[in-house]
Parts: sequence; structure tokens; C-alpha cells
Amino acid sequence: MSDCLFCKIAAGEIPSDKVYEDEVCLAFKDIDPQAPLHFLVVPKTHIGSVAEVSADNSAVVAHMLTVIAKVARELGAESYRVVSNVGEQAGQSVPHLHFHVLSGRDMTWPPG
Ligand code: 5GP
Ligand code: ZN
Repeated sequence: MSDCLFCKIAAGEIPSDKVYEDEVCLAFKDIDPQAPLHFLVVPKTHIGSVAEVSADNSAVVAHMLTVIAKVARELGAESYRVVSNVGEQAGQSVPHLHFHVLSGRDMTWPPG
């Protein structure tokens, strides 16, 4: 999608602090980290959110989860939280699917 921030970051048109990249997805540090380790994993194809996951693109999402496990392990995270906000009320501010991976501090439940 031409006017999408994370499409542009995934395409390398906007710089990011990249921690992992392959042909399917990109992982990069969040610009406003909410934990000592906070990175995002985004697909290179535009998917609006978890609400747009279907049988047609679920392999991309499954792959993103394997990348989360691998990158978290490589960055030394043993305990972490994976979050994907869907829609404005849940706090989604960028309408391109992304998983937040947060680690390195105590976390509370329920989330705010
Ligand atoms: P959301 O609010 O949609 O769940 O998450 C979007 C995340 O993207 C936020 O945590 C925000 O800090 C991060 N973000 C927004 N713009 C940029 C950017 O240009 N670069 C990076 N690295 N992160 C961004
Ligand atoms: Zn996009």
C-alpha cells in the first residue's frame, strides 16, 4: 500500500533499527519503546491487522510467529509479551499488521 508507514519501513524506504529481515517479514526496534526490549514484526505485504488474517495469508502470520521466537531467543529474551492491537479502541495507531514484542521488565495483567 503506497501510503502506509510500515509498508515503507518494510520496503526500506524509511529507515529503521532492524533486528531481523527475510523475504516475508521485517523486525525492527519500536521508536518509542515501552520496555527495555521492544521490537515490532511486520509482514512485507500489506495486511491491515489481525482482523484481516485469513486462510490466504495465514502462512505469513505463522512465519512471523516463528521469527518472533527466533529473534527473542537470539536477543536473550526468555520471558516476553507479544501484543497486536486491533482497531482504535485497542490502541492500534498504525494500520499495518504488527506484533509488538516486549521484554525486560515486570508486566501486569490485565493490560491497560
Ligand atoms: P500500535 O499503536 O499500532 O499498536 O503500534 C504502533 C507502534 O509503532 C508504536 O509502538 C509506535 O511507537 C511505533 N512506531 C510508529 N512510528 C514508527 C516509526 O516511524 N518507526 C518505528 N521504529 N516505530 C514506529
Ligand atoms: Zn502497509
